[in-house]
Amino acid sequence: MVKRSSVLPLALLALTSAAALYAQQVPIRITADLSEAPRKLYHAEIDIPVQPGPVTLTTPKWIPGNHRPTGPVSDITGVVFTANGKQLPWRRDDVNLYQFHVTVPQGITTLHAHLDCIVTARVTQKLAVLEWEKLLLYPANTSVKDIPIEPIVIVPKGWGIGTALNAESHPAGWVVGQIGTPPAAPGDSHYYAATTVEQLEDAPVITGAYFHEFPLAPEVTPKHYIDVVADQPEDANLRPQLLAELGNLVREAGAAYDSHHYHAYHFLLTLSDVAGGEGLEHGQSSDNGVGEKTFSDQKHQLAESDLLAHEFTHSWNGKYRRPARLYQSTFETPEQTDLLWIYEGMTQYMGNVLAARSGLKSQPEYRDLLATSAANLDNKPGREWRSTEDTAIAASVLRGGDPAWANWRRGQDYYQEGELLWLDADTLIRQRTNNKKSLTDFLHIFLGKGGNTGPLIVPYELPEVIADLNQVLPYDWAIFLHDRIDNINPRADLDGITRGGYKLIYIDKPNQAETTIVKNAKNQPGPNVWYSLGLRVSHEGVISDVRWEGPADTAKLHPGQKIIAVDGVIFSSDALKSAIDKAKGSKEPIHLILQSDTFVTLADIDYHGGERYPALVRVDGTPDYLDDITAPLTKPDPASLSVPASESK
Ligand SMILES: [Zn+2]
Repeated sequence: MVKRSSVLPLALLALTSAAALYAQQVPIRITADLSEAPRKLYHAEIDIPVQPGPVTLTTPKWIPGNHRPTGPVSDITGVVFTANGKQLPWRRDDVNLYQFHVTVPQGITTLHAHLDCIVTARVTQKLAVLEWEKLLLYPANTSVKDIPIEPIVIVPKGWGIGTALNAESHPAGWVVGQIGTPPAAPGDSHYYAATTVEQLEDAPVITGAYFHEFPLAPEVTPKHYIDVVADQPEDANLRPQLLAELGNLVREAGAAYDSHHYHAYHFLLTLSDVAGGEGLEHGQSSDNGVGEKTFSDQKHQLAESDLLAHEFTHSWNGKYRRPARLYQSTFETPEQTDLLWIYEGMTQYMGNVLAARSGLKSQPEYRDLLATSAANLDNKPGREWRSTEDTAIAASVLRGGDPAWANWRRGQDYYQEGELLWLDADTLIRQRTNNKKSLTDFLHIFLGKGGNTGPLIVPYELPEVIADLNQVLPYDWAIFLHDRIDNINPRADLDGITRGGYKLIYIDKPNQAETTIVKNAKNQPGPNVWYSLGLRVSHEGVISDVRWEGPADTAKLHPGQKIIAVDGVIFSSDALKSAIDKAKGSKEPIHLILQSDTFVTLADIDYHGGERYPALVRVDGTPDYLDDITAPLTKPDPASLSVPASESK
């Protein structure tokens, strides 16, 4: 509902009820003009139903799915308010910088706002992504699910458009003159049905000169599509094998979750080397951004093989079911993120599992990548002072961040910690029920409550999760979760891997998946010496992190140094690896010459353990739950099963 004047005398409130009702029913009209997207500018014309008097409008601050106050208010420019064509003064709120105060003159029922947004990411000469927080302006301090809004999107002439917004139910389009008129722009206009500010924020738009929309698993109801825009025309034309795997993904998600909470689902995919990466969940779509060749063959896609499965899973876990305190009625209210180890952690687990079940990666690749992730967590000394829960509570200040000493700080570890935790729970249920039940039974209960629905948010707190787990397997789940999440655990939870029939070990060469990813990476990564020397070092020798209390830490190395020479030889990845090999079985330390800020320094690393890389090995004679978990639940599309040699380069 639209905020009424706060200075209106109480006695007058009753008289305004009819007007309030009108205001409630008339939607905001927003025209998002992306016709200048290649110039890094978006524009909006917004007509907002108002009452005379002071009005406070806001742009979104806490962005759902980001879990942070990342609303792009600093990029919102050119703000002009008019009423009946006359410009009105405005003043930003002194405390909440996302809010604008305007006084609406008597007799005015529509306030017009123009604004521009400077957009430098997810936009190129050939494609653009609109996340609506870049252009939204609406009454502040009002539940966003109660504010109706009707969108138009203008895109550069001839560009295709992909979105979960519903164009079909609004064939009449914009009612010109009712409240405002869309501006003339040199592009193509697309009209969408009225929705709410909450739902509009949840429905991004992609547009591009090279656009394809592919239906997926056409026999499945409701409908699923992947909408693709790319900088190069050939990239937008996805491979048949990939489309078959994504069809499998749709069927596998149906089997895993036994429900859906959308009218139709759109995977939105941008393929560009300059637009920047993204993976952001929405209820009826997901915004996925990767490099232009990422899905060009099975090997290139390995590094991002779980992206689409992860974001798709969020439609159930995160969008439909959301931690209650993470879901606020306005985008101005801070989100409380302590349960992200469910929201993101279980999604991390299921995203990887569904990717393997769908053929987006193979079962051996799944195991290799799980080894990589588990080893990383098991070699993270920050866990000696910080619980997994604390990484979730502090999520909004942990994202991104400098890699320097990141292993001591910890990052958003609730993703990968959650993956190990839910694998632990899954294998525990399987073991105790003789593989008759699994986490799938829990997912059917927890994510399917209320049956199939349209886009909807059903909040929960932890006791409901524990109760649902107990329905599948009576167990002390409260203690199980508390021990692993709230307590300090110096070692990672490897019980799920062990119970799954495997063991985490270290071998002297990178596992197959790691090798494939390194070989197909666009930018050559540095050598992986984290589990040997305890260093993260670039291809050029720049140290980004030093493992706390590891060999390099003992030698007093630090982030920001650059290795100039190793054992008398100019630095290269190979030179560093041969120095590690040479020191194995020798008493001589590894000699380094370093650039330390503007000085040259020397260091000796007294390490003799050789190269070490994580891998999983099968423990014979134990149940192989891990491979049961990643086996498909549905019949795979035959087109997903073979990799033609031409694509297997
Ligand atoms: Zn996620």
